[in-house]
Amino acid sequence: MNISLVIPAYNEAQSLPELVAWIERVMDANGFTYEVIFVDDGSTDNTWWTIAKLHEKNAAIKGILFRRNYGKSAALYSGFEAAQGDVVITMDADLQDSPEEIPELYRMITEGGYDLVSGWKKERHDPRGKRWPSKFFNATVRRMTGIRLHDFNCGLKAYRKKVVKSIEVFGEMHRYIPVLVKKAGFNRITEKEVHHQARKYGCSKYGWERMMKGYLDLLTVLFITRFSKSPMYLFGGGGTIMFLIGGLITLYVVIRKLILQGNGLPVRDVTDQPLFFLALVMALIGVQLFIAGFLGELIGRESADRNRYLIDDKIDIDNIKISD
Ligand code: UDP
Ligand code: MG
Repeated sequence: MNISLVIPAYNEAQSLPELVAWIERVMDANGFTYEVIFVDDGSTDNTWWTIAKLHEKNAAIKGILFRRNYGKSAALYSGFEAAQGDVVITMDADLQDSPEEIPELYRMITEGGYDLVSGWKKERHDPRGKRWPSKFFNATVRRMTGIRLHDFNCGLKAYRKKVVKSIEVFGEMHRYIPVLVKKAGFNRITEKEVHHQARKYGCSKYGWERMMKGYLDLLTVLFITRFSKSPMYLFGGGGTIMFLIGGLITLYVVIRKLILQGNGLPVRDVTDQPLFFLALVMALIGVQLFIAGFLGELIGRESADRNRYLIDDKIDIDNIKISD
C-alpha cells in the first residue's frame, strides 16, 4: 500500500463527506493504493456514524473510535499504530488542509528520501490572535531545537512508515512531532509550503489556553530530548553549584566574624545577617536539586521504556524486533 492517511476528527461530521470525496479524487487521479484512517476522538456529533457510512461506500475508509476525548496527540498515535502504508500522511479533518498536496508529499518521501516533510502554512487563514503567538512559538522552538521549520504544528505532514512506528506522541506533543522525530534518530526533515484555507464548517477545538499548554509542553519536550537519559547532568549540576555557593558564603560569614572578633572589633551574630540565610537557602535548594537528579537517574534505570533503543536493521539475530 502506498499511502496511509491519518486524520484525527473531533466533531467534524459536517466536513467529512466533502473531505473524503476530495481525497478519493486525488488518490484515483494519481493511481495510489491507500487507506484513510479516521480517528474519532470521542466526538459528540455524528462523526462516527458518518465514518461508518463512508466506509460502506469505500472500504479504504477506516475508523478508530475513542471512548472519550483524549486529544489530537492520542488520535495521531493510534492512527500511527494502525497505519500500513509506505508513506503515512496526517491532515486535519476540517478541510483547512488540502488533499492536493498529497502527491508531492508522497514524492518527497519516496524519491526525495526524506523521513519527514512538514507542511508550512505560509499564508495562513486563521484569526490574527492565533497567527502572532504561533510565530513567536515557532521561533522559540526553532532556536531551542535547532530544527529549521517555520511551522512545527502544521497538521499536514508526511512520514516514512518507519518514522511513525518509532515515535510516541502523547499529552499535547503533536506540536513537537519534528522534535520527537529528530530525537528518534531521523535527520532528514524538511518542509513544504502548503495551501491553507479558512475553516468551512464547525469551529476550532482550541482556545487561548493552548498557548499556556504549548509552552509547558515545550519544557517537557526539551527536557525529554536533552536530559531524559541523564537527569543528573541537569539537576546534579545546578544542585552542586548552588550548594557550593551556599557553602562559600557561609564560610565567608563565619570567617569574617572570627577575624573581627579576634581584632576586638564589634560583631553581629551570624544569625543576624541576611547573607547567612541566603547561603542557607542556597545550600538547601542545592541538596534538593541533587536529590531530584538522583531520583531521576533511578527512575530512568527502572523504566524499561526509557532504555529502549530503536533497531533499524539486523543481521542474523532473531530475538530483536526491527522498529518498522
Ligand atoms: N482534534 C482532535 N481532538 C481534539 C481537538 C482537535 O482530534 O481534542 C482534531 C480536529 O478535529 C481537527 C484537528 O484536530 O481535525 C485540528 O483541530 P482544529 O482545526 O480545531 O485546530 P486549529 O485548526 O484551530 O489549529
Ligand atoms: Mg483547523
